[in-house]
Amino acid sequence: MGRAPTGNCDRMTTQLGLPADIQACLFDLDGVVTKTAVVHAAAWKETFDSFLRERDGAGFRPFTDSDYDEYVDGRPRADGVRTFLASRSIELPEGDPDDPPDRRTVNGVGNRKNELLLEKIRTDGVEAYDGTLRYIEAVRAAGLRTAIVSSSANTLDVLRSLDAERLFDARIDGVVARERGLPGKPRPDTFLAAARDLGVEPSRAAVFEDALAGMDAGRAGHFGHVVGVDRVGQTDALYAHGADRVVKDLAELLGGGE
Ligand SMILES: [Mg+2]
Repeated sequence: MGRAPTGNCDRMTTQLGLPADIQACLFDLDGVVTKTAVVHAAAWKETFDSFLRERDGAGFRPFTDSDYDEYVDGRPRADGVRTFLASRSIELPEGDPDDPPDRRTVNGVGNRKNELLLEKIRTDGVEAYDGTLRYIEAVRAAGLRTAIVSSSANTLDVLRSLDAERLFDARIDGVVARERGLPGKPRPDTFLAAARDLGVEPSRAAVFEDALAGMDAGRAGHFGHVVGVDRVGQTDALYAHGADRVVKDLAELLGGGE
């Protein structure tokens, strides 16, 4: 905390695989820092499949990987419910934030997913990607500032469980976004707020994301550099949604330059 951006240092940012004028790095959590994108995907699938099966009987069409990538990944929970159901021409009442998980409302369905997610995290724990942790350490050693930018309302708990809270100078997560009334990804507002909290212009900040909605946010916010992290074989889609560069692991960026 409290470190000032150090300004340009061409050699160091090139060693990080970044353009020379980048002063801050904004990291998504699930799928970039932690191996939790698959856990989210599984919780969503269980939630939507049981919802659709109950609604449509034997003729139901299951929730697919591409449904997850297109309509859900990276978005705030309630937006994910609305966007996916709209793709199947289903509209639910909003309900209340504390709706029980079996209520057929946007909030009820979202709460069911969160209940399943927390159950899975409690049972299996959370793991971080080593390559990402090494990259963040290198970024900080080079004097750049860092923020975590996640739609997840569970961000702080997850970071604490990994002792990774210390790696970030700012945090914009689902809780902070709600407090500040910020719309989630694919809108750029949460990333813009993180850059502002770090005192860095968006054009001098790099975005690291694994979700298509995150690429859209990076492009919409006119950030200096957008790195797509491809964990599931969607390199082309990440480029199509605005990535400047796509890697399978952030460690690939170390030492190499552009
Ligand atoms: Mg993600």
